[in-house]
Amino acid sequence: MRKIDPKRFQIAKRRTSREINRQIALTLIRTHQPVSRADLARLMGTRRGAASVLVNELMEEALIFEGAIGEGGGRGRKPTFLYIDSRERYVIAVDIRATRTYLMATDLMGKPLVGITNFPTNRDVDALIAELSKRIKSIVADHQSNATCQGVGVVVPGMTDHGSGRVLHAPTLGWRDVDLKDALAAATSLPVQIENSGRACALAQVWATRGGGHEGNLVFVSVSDGVGVGVVINGEIVRGRYNIAGEFGHVPISVDGPRCSCGATGCWEAYVSNLATLSRYFGRNQNDSKPIPAENATFTVEDLISRARNGDAKALAALQSTARYLGLGLASIVNAVDPGRIYIGGEIIAAWDLIESAVRAALAERALTAPAGRTEIRTVSVDEHPRLRGAAALLAAPAFAAPMVA
Ligand SMILES: [Zn+2]
Repeated sequence: MRKIDPKRFQIAKRRTSREINRQIALTLIRTHQPVSRADLARLMGTRRGAASVLVNELMEEALIFEGAIGEGGGRGRKPTFLYIDSRERYVIAVDIRATRTYLMATDLMGKPLVGITNFPTNRDVDALIAELSKRIKSIVADHQSNATCQGVGVVVPGMTDHGSGRVLHAPTLGWRDVDLKDALAAATSLPVQIENSGRACALAQVWATRGGGHEGNLVFVSVSDGVGVGVVINGEIVRGRYNIAGEFGHVPISVDGPRCSCGATGCWEAYVSNLATLSRYFGRNQNDSKPIPAENATFTVEDLISRARNGDAKALAALQSTARYLGLGLASIVNAVDPGRIYIGGEIIAAWDLIESAVRAALAERALTAPAGRTEIRTVSVDEHPRLRGAAALLAAPAFAAPMVA
């Protein structure tokens, strides 16, 4: 992932060591705040003077600020502490899904500042950009007096090219090679970052986790209209040569299986997406091209879960069948990536108490060793808005992210 240009190695090396120290300082302040200058120097394993040079630089750039906390230590000079400065900056997070698009403004730590709004996703890109920029401009107008918008983070259910920002393929939206980033930046006059929703969710977990280990090696699985997976190894998002690394949603469970949004058959997504679970309940074949009958079209996975809780055996069976396939797919992820922890998000997580044992049993059955079969799984509820937090992290995290070398 880090490339070194042999011709410019010296220049890169010098710039990089400074960038890395800066990243280390910011990461330590973020995870330990409030932290004193002396403690920061100790955590960095450097002299206090060297740490202070960095601190002063970061304060000049308004990335951190220094303030006092608590009652202080009696007589003498009150100790001051360093904090990440997220007071006067905000970002706009956008989550584009197959059916609806969600918007939220957050501070740089991902804390929501205004309520979430949403509207139906128009698959016509120009129309979608027009609607989005109208709504973004209105959020900016509301905040004009007291804070600066740092930019817009957008997550999409598809593969994106990290360099150009183009959406390469978003099966559930029917998009191929779509320019969303530059067009939205031009329409809003704001910097725009775009990323696959699974990857952004993984990034947000790295960004939000304070200690506790496993930040460097984790996988985020987002189960919704489709299945998005983000893989983090050694603290870095894995993208791959053609930007499709981690697309476990399109790994086949059975080549003769149901039709997937990508056009192939039997992908993991075709067994565990919300549509797959609903189709199972309604006894429909996913190859069936006929639209879902109107009376069922508004029926959601949440409705299915409440029926299961109210004793509908068919609803419970549909959920548990999804749970088994979910566990089988997690086993593939464990066997391929062997992460320290897997996060799962999506509407179906509301039924975790009903499906957990089936998920874990399938994972244990197919993982190649017993300890791997017990890989830690953490659920992320819909109320935590992992995809919007992921979108916000696209803007907030780069200041803290590992630098690219040359
Ligand atoms: Zn597929």
